[in-house]
Amino acid sequence: NRRKTTSTEEFVTQIVAGNIPFLSRAITLVESTNPKHQQQANEILEACLPHANKSVRIGITGVPGVGKSTFIEAFGKHLTSLGKKVAVLAVDPSSSINKGSILGDKTRMEELVTDENAFIRPSPSGTSLGGVAQKTRESIILCEAAGFDTIIIETVGVGQSETAVHSMTDFFLLLKLAGAGDELQGIKRGIIEMADAIVINKADSGNEKNAKLAKVEFNRALHLYPAKESDWQPKVLLASALHHQGIDAIYAMIEEYMGLVKKSGYFQQKRDDQNNYWLLETINQQLKSNFYNNPKIKELLQQEIAKLENGKTTPFTAAKRLLENN
Ligand code: GDP
Repeated sequence: NRRKTTSTEEFVTQIVAGNIPFLSRAITLVESTNPKHQQQANEILEACLPHANKSVRIGITGVPGVGKSTFIEAFGKHLTSLGKKVAVLAVDPSSSINKGSILGDKTRMEELVTDENAFIRPSPSGTSLGGVAQKTRESIILCEAAGFDTIIIETVGVGQSETAVHSMTDFFLLLKLAGAGDELQGIKRGIIEMADAIVINKADSGNEKNAKLAKVEFNRALHLYPAKESDWQPKVLLASALHHQGIDAIYAMIEEYMGLVKKSGYFQQKRDDQNNYWLLETINQQLKSNFYNNPKIKELLQQEIAKLENGKTTPFTAAKRLLENN
């Protein structure tokens, strides 16, 4: 029961018309490892580019349980109530390990999933974070071409995935919980530096006082960092995603940010920088995968490792030989 192949033109026409099943199928092509699918995906992407770029891209991170999906549901509903069209994508590098992705999982956003102005897509699976991130980045373009004006990219607060999401979004939001006054413990410096806002979630049910204290502490910490290139002073806000509190203020803040960076030119500069970054990143990945998947290299690598273990060569000489044989 082979599906009749759809032409690239048909895909593009349908996507630009906002046809969601076609959007989904195009994302499936983007995520496919089949070279033919990839070829068509690239054609679709290039044709969609003139229709893309008109959105705000928001990255959201936080440890499991902080309330990301609850927040995205409340935030997404708020946006659609304002007439926005919201796409939720995810970067979850662990999805290649445990297969089932827990990010962008539709069962965790029950209200948003039935909203006709929302589109939710779980994280692509892949063997590397770079691969997963690249596919998500390409999916952003397709969603924008389909008319989604707000793109939310969810990632879990582990490893390098935040950096990847930061490098494909305009605004980066860190979700946190109020603890016992040691909020800054165990939080990676790099994450704070990337954040345009910290939202302290679950500021409800008797936790309000702690949340306020955490806000003071984070504000103090944020002021210790040098000013951002965007000239934006990162903000700390309180929210209760569960009770839909503080959500409108968060969106108002993002609008304020967008106004600032569009006026200053930083918005376009950052997107240009991100494009360059992904160009080089993609070349790096491609070179690496071509190299390591080359059967000749695979064999030679084993031989060089054996020589290395027997003290017959040095890592540098071995690397040189391998690279010369590529
Ligand atoms: P995620 O793993 O970061 O996506 O977190 P979830 O959105 O799945 O939320 C984890 C748990 O925290 C769920 O039981 C939510 O109902 C709960 N939760 C999320 N947001 C809030 C909130 O604002 N207040 C309270 N009290 N609970 C919340």
